[in-house]
Amino acid sequence: MSLSVFQRQLLGLDENALLARGRHKLQPAVWNAWTYLSLAAEKEGYKLQIASAYRSYERQLSIWNGKLSGERPVLDDNDHTIDIRDLSDAECIRCVLRFSAMPGGSRHHWGTDLDVYDAAAVADDYRVQLSAAEVDAAGPFGAMHAWLDQRIARGESFGFYRPYDRDRGGVAAERWHLSYAPLATDFECAIDESLLRRLWRGEGGFEGNSEGNSEGKTAVRQPVAREALERELESIFERFVLRVARPPAAALAYLPPD
Ligand SMILES: [Zn+2]
Repeated sequence: MSLSVFQRQLLGLDENALLARGRHKLQPAVWNAWTYLSLAAEKEGYKLQIASAYRSYERQLSIWNGKLSGERPVLDDNDHTIDIRDLSDAECIRCVLRFSAMPGGSRHHWGTDLDVYDAAAVADDYRVQLSAAEVDAAGPFGAMHAWLDQRIARGESFGFYRPYDRDRGGVAAERWHLSYAPLATDFECAIDESLLRRLWRGEGGFEGNSEGNSEGKTAVRQPVAREALERELESIFERFVLRVARPPAAALAYLPPD
């Protein structure tokens, strides 16, 4: 199987089109819109910062494998660590998917999505957790997110919206996660589970990722998890990839000023 440039971007295997600013990478158009949004926020006393932007397939794979191997904690909805040894493979995968996308299936692969916080609301040495408590009305980032909600509702969010605005029974609500609708929608429409299946199996002359890794490195490394994932991929895909908010019309139609 040979992949087009677009498919490679979709799967987090090609970052050539992305632009780096500091330690984060995004599509140039997304940086442009981000600059406008940050300036608007600054006028209200907020200091928008990025916690996470582009993530490669390799990076997502290492997060995923870290959780499945017990090296990284798997949390429940109340931020308590789950003992994954008590779970079946299928249950374990669902718990991981609640907060971490499957490798190849993350919106962070596209260079269109980012996790944000308000640096003006916390001390310089504050460690951002991206937790529900932080973005609640009473949390440190609640005010900034309420302001952002209003901008999105008024169609003044420079193309950004919240794909995980509320819990739809798949990925948990993630108020911190923003998506740039004019570009993200193209990726969202193009992703399908057969592409992921082929990617994980490393079949058909799959070339590896942009760092030139071999086939073995790009496949999902935990065979048990991969089997459980593949067995239920159609329903998992619907629940954890496709079950997201539709972009508001104004965000989708956003055009940057000349
Ligand atoms: Zn995110």
